[in-house]
Amino acid sequence: MADFSILIEPVYIATIFFFIIGLHRMSHPKTARSGIVWAGAAMLIATLVTFFTPGLTNLALIAIAIVIGGGFGYIAAKRVAMTDMPQMIALYNGMGGGAAACISAVALLAIASPVTASLAVAGGVIGAVSFSGSIIAFAKLQGWMPSRPMTFTGQQAFNMAVFILAIISGILAVMQPAWVPLSVAVYLPLFFVLSLAFGLLMTLPIGGADMPVVISMYNAFTGLAVALDGFSFATPNYAMIIAGIIVGAAGSLLTLNMAKAMNRSLSNVFFGAFGATEETGAQVAGSMKPIEADDVAVMLAYADRVIVAPGYGMAVAQAQQKVKELTDLLMSKGVTVKFAIHPVAGRMPGHMNVLLAEAGVAYEHLFDRDEINPEFPSTDVVLVIGANDTVNPAAYRQGSPLYGMPILDVEQAKNVVVLKRGSGKGFAGIENDLFYRDNTRMLYGDAQETVAKLVQALKKL
Ligand code: NDP
Repeated sequence: MADFSILIEPVYIATIFFFIIGLHRMSHPKTARSGIVWAGAAMLIATLVTFFTPGLTNLALIAIAIVIGGGFGYIAAKRVAMTDMPQMIALYNGMGGGAAACISAVALLAIASPVTASLAVAGGVIGAVSFSGSIIAFAKLQGWMPSRPMTFTGQQAFNMAVFILAIISGILAVMQPAWVPLSVAVYLPLFFVLSLAFGLLMTLPIGGADMPVVISMYNAFTGLAVALDGFSFATPNYAMIIAGIIVGAAGSLLTLNMAKAMNRSLSNVFFGAFGATEETGAQVAGSMKPIEADDVAVMLAYADRVIVAPGYGMAVAQAQQKVKELTDLLMSKGVTVKFAIHPVAGRMPGHMNVLLAEAGVAYEHLFDRDEINPEFPSTDVVLVIGANDTVNPAAYRQGSPLYGMPILDVEQAKNVVVLKRGSGKGFAGIENDLFYRDNTRMLYGDAQETVAKLVQALKKL
């Protein structure tokens, strides 16, 4: 068979450009789909070219693993509901971390040099933490375990002790000094068991509300672990190093942006046990005032300016098509309609953008928080469709768990109509005094049904 190994490095470099183009295209909704294709193609090419590595054995096993993993990934991604996307990302990211830890294990069994071995230890601990931490994140979001923070006295000191012991075992496995009583066959597994335990322990005290930030952080960890592993071979693997660094950097930036949008500092996310508090977060006074769809339709028809603030409930109800129909109808009647998009509305970054784009809402009608907030006071009607935390004024009240979270200031509009099924709380599990304000009316029901009623009522006017 011809030797194509000379092609490996240049092809790896080419795939890195593909990854960068893909990532760049993902930064805008219009080009995001093609960004995924670029990055996916790069991954496929990098995987295929790796088969030409000289001395590669167990080809059949590798092919079987790819078919099983690829098949599972394809079917799961096809079937997953948009609302379950965060846990799927947690699971896939965990797999990446686990794979990085396995590569470290292989590198540590065949130590090339003390430097590569140290990098493999670092890659191993980070990959293992990402693996077990992501599995806990998955279980919490999927409802397989309680999403509330699980804490115990002395937890941080205990976690730190486990981490230090993991690192010591890793060092002993690499250095194998003559004075230690046990062999590498003990220290290496111990290193991985303790690293996995640390990921688990680190994630248990974090509440469900902070999980997206945590998943994004573990995603950055996985990238870092892969990059470190790329260095741990006798001949560095440049595709792993650069792709890992890109994932690590992009994941870190996303983590910081999400933490900012959810008003959590990273140390607070990891050590603050958010959600453990009994604080309800609202100073509720008065009552929720219901309204009928026909009356809302009249309000909308006579409005000059309407803003739609969608949230998780719109995703659950799959109401985006009806919302598009409603807003098209309003625009055809000369009403100015805009969408206010909060960065963490829904259950994943960009959730609302994806749903609305899927429904055909033009990107020009979507406005982010900073752009739209000054417009609320001059807005006649805000339709809050299945949003709760992202429009909760408790964020301005000291002592509330949401305190400081940047929100959409919908309460400043002349009229606010909230579409939701009942008195269900948002993700953070706290009351929302917006619903009790004088200028707020509640249109109860599943969002798809209530928006459909609005469309019908508007058509009759
Ligand atoms: P929330 O989760 O705060 O609230 C959603 C509301 O939708 C609920 O109060 C619920 O009330 C209502 N609802 C549920 N189903 C329906 C339905 N079928 N029809 C109508 N209404 C429905 O939503 P937001 O989008 O405002 O906030 C997102 C929250 O999720 C934030 O706290 C954010 O930090 C967090 N988060 C964000 C992630 C992200 O990356 N975007 C990821 C994970 C969490 P009712 O039961 O009465 O109908």
